[in-house]
Amino acid sequence: MILASRNEHKVRELGEILPGTDLRALPEGVESPPETGVTFEENALIKARSAREATGEVVVADDSGLEVDALDGRPGVYSARYAGEGATDAGNLARVLSELAETGPGGAEGRSGSGPGHTARYVCVIALIDDSGEHLFRGTCEGWMIQEPRGDGGFGYDPAFVPEATGPEDGRTMAELTPDEKNAISHRGAAARVLADYLIGN
Ligand code: IMP
Repeated sequence: MILASRNEHKVRELGEILPGTDLRALPEGVESPPETGVTFEENALIKARSAREATGEVVVADDSGLEVDALDGRPGVYSARYAGEGATDAGNLARVLSELAETGPGGAEGRSGSGPGHTARYVCVIALIDDSGEHLFRGTCEGWMIQEPRGDGGFGYDPAFVPEATGPEDGRTMAELTPDEKNAISHRGAAARVLADYLIGN
């Protein structure tokens, strides 16, 4: 099975969740298509279709990002380039936090119970194309955005994202969790486990 990505970290991480699968990165020379979709599903399918066309193999592709309720779901599919093309993780996070600072302190925003900041979620969609057709698997990780980033682990928006799944007493950001703790609750882990269930059933 081919993962439509050259990110070795993703290939290893997904390979660990899908035991018994020979997962390989996209071969050299296969171009990555522009991500022109406006949903995670569309972008995952764009990447999977392009890899399927180029290789003829069973392929999987993922697309992920952060949705902040007070920002009407932004940065969403623009998470990797929210501060512009070639933006850094720090630049993208700074833009989200500055937009959130203008909306006020944040609260539970539609979720029961109060949290430490503005409600948000990570979303990951994995598209699989096999001989039976196209299949989509979605995983989410609910939490809150805080104004003061903490922690050195993870990447992207992790230093300002407090996940709900660690419990109300915990309060650590995603960047303060160990990799195993993050994988156990992350959107990517959740989507990959639904994919694993599909593969086991077939
Ligand atoms: P992509 O799925 O590789 O295109 O990543 C999309 C973007 O979403 C990343 O560049 C990050 O900005 C953000 N993102 C996705 N997953 C995570 C995560 O687990 N932690 C922090 N940021 C994430």
